[in-house]
Amino acid sequence: MSLFLTALKFAAVKHSNQRRKNREATPYINHPIEVAEILWQIGGVRDMVIIVGALLHDTLEDTDATPSEIKNLFGAEVLALVEEVTDDKALPKQQRKRLQIETAADKSSRAKQVKLADKICNVYDIGHSPPQWSLKLCQIYLDWTEQVVVGLRGINPKLEVHYDAVLLEARKALKQRKFSN
Ligand code: ZN
Repeated sequence: MSLFLTALKFAAVKHSNQRRKNREATPYINHPIEVAEILWQIGGVRDMVIIVGALLHDTLEDTDATPSEIKNLFGAEVLALVEEVTDDKALPKQQRKRLQIETAADKSSRAKQVKLADKICNVYDIGHSPPQWSLKLCQIYLDWTEQVVVGLRGINPKLEVHYDAVLLEARKALKQRKFSN
């Protein structure tokens, strides 16, 4: 619990000036909390390295958090997990997206579960509270997550079934948007 609270506070402070891309511009911290909750509630995950890693999963990529800060506060295992789910921002966006598809299957089982829960949250948001993207861009995003998730399967069936349901729901929501426009 101590590690969990420290991670929650660390992520809240690091993401404090960020907002999600949805219409409501939700505070960013809601996202890592949701990823951790899905792992715990839906995935039945009780490995605290995974739960703490989920809270921290976007801190290296999107904030000024450093690997040594994470290692000092949370240890080498948590750092290794967060690094595994962090894209190399020095690379162009399209290459980063392609690499996510190509490297998914080689990730550790911890990283696969965090990545899958992350995709579940992002796909859910496309269905329920989408960013100001065109319909086409939303569809391309959903198709891309499906390709990444191919490489994440075989570890946590409960998360996989949930992803499939959330994806179906998001596709239905997009179809409805298409007809109501
Ligand atoms: Zn994320």
